[in-house]
Amino acid sequence: MTAADVAVSIAVGGFSPLSTCDWPGELVATVFCQGCPLACRYCHNADLIPPGRGAGPHWQDILSTLEKRRGLLDGVVFSGGEPTLQRALSEAIDAVRALGFRVGLHTAGPYPERLERLLPQLDWVGFDVKAPFADYERIAGVPGSGLRARESLSALARSGVALDVRTTVHPLLLTEGNLVRLDADLATLGLRPTRRQPFRRGGCRDAELLSTC
Ligand code: SF4
Repeated sequence: MTAADVAVSIAVGGFSPLSTCDWPGELVATVFCQGCPLACRYCHNADLIPPGRGAGPHWQDILSTLEKRRGLLDGVVFSGGEPTLQRALSEAIDAVRALGFRVGLHTAGPYPERLERLLPQLDWVGFDVKAPFADYERIAGVPGSGLRARESLSALARSGVALDVRTTVHPLLLTEGNLVRLDADLATLGLRPTRRQPFRRGGCRDAELLSTC
């Protein structure tokens, strides 16, 4: 695939040239990819869920910006939406690595085979685990999503790639009992308990969640 093909294939919904929080401890730029196959009720990036071209800058313009920031940033994070939806993600990562940046990925793991192929190219993964695997559909809105998240986490655990596993907690969706079961699920994969992060109201379009938190 040529650089021009990547420009066509990567759907960018947004770009942040500087972030101190998207990859803890690193100074990064963040590419927000367009499209996500899940439908989490608490999603604060709802504009990034529909597939499509995306309203962000062109990929070649992002590469030009990154080229000027060599030596000033530690890395680049591909976020979303769900970046593994992008068929040209591997080539985009190669282009970023060729500029000398380390690469991080935010994912919810809906495509385990694609994620496993990407792992040798990644320095860090921030994984959003939604619920105990058997209870996934209630939050992610898609049948089979728990099984796919489990397969992705299993591949990550085997790979040794640096990993931050975190879970958004809304009291209407996840009880303490649910979280205990989720941690037990993670322990079966040799992973530590998930890091809890509070529900964020900004961007959420679910009236019931907004009215109860
Ligand atoms: S996985 Fe992330 S981007 Fe996709 S619907 Fe859920 S919260 Fe939104």
